[in-house]
Amino acid sequence: MARTRIGIFGSTGSIGASTLDVLARHPERFSVDVLVAHSRVDPLFEQIKRFRPATVGLVDAGRRAALEERLASLPAAQRPAVVVGQAAVDELAGDPALDTVVAAVVGTAGLGSTWNALAAGKRVLLANKESLVAAGELMLDVARRAGATLLPIDSEHNAIFQCLPADQAAVVGRAGLVGDSNEIERLVLTASGGPFRERPLADFAGITPDQACAHPNWSMGRKISVDSATMMNKGLEVIEAARLFGVSAERIEVLVHPESVIHSMVRFVDGSVIAELGEPDMRTPIAHALAWPERIESGVAPLDFGALAGLHFESPDPERFPALRLAFEALAAGGGMPLVMNAANEVAVAAFLERRIGFMDIPAALQAAMTHFAGNAAAGAPETIEAVLAADREVRAWAASWCDARGSATALGG
Ligand code: NAD
Ligand code: MG
Repeated sequence: MARTRIGIFGSTGSIGASTLDVLARHPERFSVDVLVAHSRVDPLFEQIKRFRPATVGLVDAGRRAALEERLASLPAAQRPAVVVGQAAVDELAGDPALDTVVAAVVGTAGLGSTWNALAAGKRVLLANKESLVAAGELMLDVARRAGATLLPIDSEHNAIFQCLPADQAAVVGRAGLVGDSNEIERLVLTASGGPFRERPLADFAGITPDQACAHPNWSMGRKISVDSATMMNKGLEVIEAARLFGVSAERIEVLVHPESVIHSMVRFVDGSVIAELGEPDMRTPIAHALAWPERIESGVAPLDFGALAGLHFESPDPERFPALRLAFEALAAGGGMPLVMNAANEVAVAAFLERRIGFMDIPAALQAAMTHFAGNAAAGAPETIEAVLAADREVRAWAASWCDARGSATALGG
């Protein structure tokens, strides 16, 4: 059997590393043909030596010389072709030499590569939720037209996918399947509640980037860690679920479950609830989507029920986590509103990580952007990918000046 040829966009990140860990267990089944990173050449070089891709993409042209210098130490036959710059790297995602693309770039920066992979009809393992939130229906349209297979590796969506009846699961990303079903009642997205679930609200203003990035259950990149702390991550996931499974906001429920053992659930009309359980380890959803509809070993430890102190559930606290409410509002408003929310969030999270604004300024930035762009966004979702990118740039510029003004007004220390 020919091996499945894999490209990993965002290979040096947290999802990229988990994906390579799974792939390394199955060399007879998968080959690693393309690796893409933004600028970190040291981890990229280690991956090149180990996995021998034919091509590597480096977004940051300023790091090209550093990469070439390392590659020069390899025998000529082991040196991959090097592609540099965002547009050229994004094009690699449509390369006929790839069967499967793992979309693991963080943020809307992943839109180009995710789009190109779908347009080329590939199997796309989607971690990059921001691009689906920003581009919405357009992205599903391109996937359907090209006959692509869009499989979620975000753990909640992968869990829901696993809980759906097999005949319906097989068309995910190609039709609004749950929305049309008279058997499925609701999707239940579980949330850990992040590191501040029990922190007194009065202390939220003093939260630092390192505190926000110390997630209790999952080890992830810094942007998604901050999103988990504000619960914007769950907000993005509500929109991601609405898009992937074709359901309205009223049929999506968010449930805080601090142990992160149940990764999400589906409620059926007969009262049954089907859940997917396991250790909180991204290698499970990644392995599932790599091999689907088969199953392969992932390296994840078996779930030890005896070691569980219990499974707990509570409703999310709207005072602590206004970003979650804003995401439901953005989804209900429709049109370009999810794009506005997502772009403002990326800018605000970056400003928070650079200590230019405070933690609670993040939801304030979202609210401000959503109010400011309400008229424009209601006019409808952008109809081309170029229009999506232009709208994203416009919101970012506005949000950047909002953050500047907020930052100088509050003058955070050190
Ligand atoms: P990360 O910060 O650890 O890694 C990001 C990767 O993207 C890096 O390899 C970086 O080089 C690359 N990158 C950054 N900018 C780029 C650009 N302009 N072009 C090409 N590559 C670029 O992030 P992560 O935690 O791995 O998250 C990646 C995506 O997966 C995010 O969308 C996140 O929401 C989603 N996700 C992550 C997890 C997790 O457990 N980490 C879980 C679910 C979903
Ligand atoms: Mg998730």
